[in-house]
Amino acid sequence: MSKLSVVLPAYNEELMVGKTCRVLREVLTEADISYELVVVNDGSRDNTWEEILKAGKKDSNILGVNFSRNFGKESAVFAGLAQATGDVVAVMDCDLQHPPQTLVEMYHLWEDGYEVIEGVKKSRGKESIIHKKCAGFFYGIMSKATKVDMKNASDFKMMDRRAVASILSLPERNMFFRATSSWVGFKTTHVKFEVQEREAGESKWSAWSLIKYAFTNIVAFTTFPLQFVTFAGGISFIGSLALIVYSLIQYFNGHAVEGYTTILIVLLMIGSAIMLSLGVIGYYIAKIYEEVKRRPRYIISEIVSGTKNANAQIKKDLR
Ligand code: UDP
Ligand code: MG
Repeated sequence: MSKLSVVLPAYNEELMVGKTCRVLREVLTEADISYELVVVNDGSRDNTWEEILKAGKKDSNILGVNFSRNFGKESAVFAGLAQATGDVVAVMDCDLQHPPQTLVEMYHLWEDGYEVIEGVKKSRGKESIIHKKCAGFFYGIMSKATKVDMKNASDFKMMDRRAVASILSLPERNMFFRATSSWVGFKTTHVKFEVQEREAGESKWSAWSLIKYAFTNIVAFTTFPLQFVTFAGGISFIGSLALIVYSLIQYFNGHAVEGYTTILIVLLMIGSAIMLSLGVIGYYIAKIYEEVKRRPRYIISEIVSGTKNANAQIKKDLR
């Protein structure tokens, strides 16, 4: 019988993680799906790890992975994918905002032969207007880069072992999981789901972390900003040609304009354009630097498994 692995990244989720494991156990047992829960504690500062251990004592299908510090959700998802042993692997948030029932629906689609099943948000839930606009702008760029409509994409998905293997084989450290799962291709379909309200705990995203997240992922997935620098350079070149011709004509006709203000304006504009462009290029260089350092995506301090082969798992991880 085939096994489903569910990867659950958890950061400061002491209030939710136990409940999520319990609910998943109920739902999956009822649907008669044999499963494994890979709960990755992403360096939480609360008692999330203790809660995972407690849940593991009750349910031997839980594999707990403890990070040495907080590495971010993408790394936690990646670690979970690497540890998962199922024939099909799902990724979901461990705050029950992704409805567990949808998991069963996805599983049946996998049985029907689909290899990547994307969870698509029916609506984006409650968000402020500014947040909506920024998200719209970000996903506009990402959709162009991936050629997939990302507007309602989420991190809730199910993937066949083959798709998981190809994601794990990608060498880059800085990965945007949400887009990568469609980038790898395979026979894909999607399932619509309604984002649930968070029951307890709080969202880990501040406005600043979202902006950082957006920039990192744009840079991880597309060179569009670099091309934009070239494009802006081209436009300002055409503009300057026009201005040069105009000023020369004025000069030879004997009405050269008072120079100081014009020069100051042009100088400042060009100066800031150059600095901004350098910033964009610099950001890419910083990312290249991070990649060439080849640091691991995450460091695991402990793996605890309900089944007996925990040591085998750890060996696999130290490879
Ligand atoms: N998460 C994580 N590491 C982090 C931040 C978040 O593993 O550094 C997990 C978190 O525990 C949750 C999921 O990522 O399971 C989504 O986080 P959250 O619910 O805060 O995001 P939102 O639902 O508000 O987008
Ligand atoms: Mg959430």
